[in-house]
Amino acid sequence: MPELPEVERVAQTMRPRLVGRKLVSAWTSGKKLRKPTRLSTLGREKPRVETVERVGKHIIASLSDGRMLHIHLGMTGRVVFCKPRDSVEPHTHARIGLDDGSEMRYVDARRFGLITVENTRPADLQELGVDPLSSAFTVEGFARTLSGARRDIKAALMDQTVLAGVGNIYALEALHLAKISPKARADSLSKARVARLHDAVVKVLEKGVKNGGTSFSDYVDADGNRGDNQTTLRVYGREGEPCPVCKTLIKRIVQQGRSSFYCPKCQK
Ligand SMILES: [Zn+2]
Repeated sequence: MPELPEVERVAQTMRPRLVGRKLVSAWTSGKKLRKPTRLSTLGREKPRVETVERVGKHIIASLSDGRMLHIHLGMTGRVVFCKPRDSVEPHTHARIGLDDGSEMRYVDARRFGLITVENTRPADLQELGVDPLSSAFTVEGFARTLSGARRDIKAALMDQTVLAGVGNIYALEALHLAKISPKARADSLSKARVARLHDAVVKVLEKGVKNGGTSFSDYVDADGNRGDNQTTLRVYGREGEPCPVCKTLIKRIVQQGRSSFYCPKCQK
């Protein structure tokens, strides 16, 4: 599932192809995505794209008519740029024609994602917590939030109303780097451990962006390129392999229905 670094890369690679372009036509598959796909007015009104921004795991393209194109990649969503005559791959749910003769497509096999035009800023964006790559993410604010979180630290990290954009992979990588067990209680962490975790969250996300994201199966950016970050992961997906720090074998447990990987010796 794409997390902050993958969505950031998709937004970065969409920007040069989309900003300044007019959206001149639209087609949708009619299949049910996470939200109804409403693009039908684009062909009539032909708005221009002014900006493309990542907000948590969402992509928001601001349009010249004040509305916004909202994309969430869900589990398997991809944004593809091509020519209108190029063959349409299975699971294509939207095709938007651009005024330079190219076409942007949204492809999503599992259909947990969305692409739609919103008249106002959608509610699911207003509930998001702080962006961990923004200057608003401070040790003090993070400590305050965690001190009120009566649950394990991994669940708190993955809560989008706490940190916007962190999911399973980067939460586990940050916890290993910070030497904190995914089972530790969020409200029990000392100030020093919170500061270490804050630093680790920023480091693993920045590394993920720099490496082009983590590609295990579906993820590619809007240029069609896979990321390299999967080759650098410390614990994620490495059950039974030696910890990169102490060589203890990495354990896997299940928390909130998702796999957690950690080093039982380094992480307390
Ligand atoms: Zn270890």
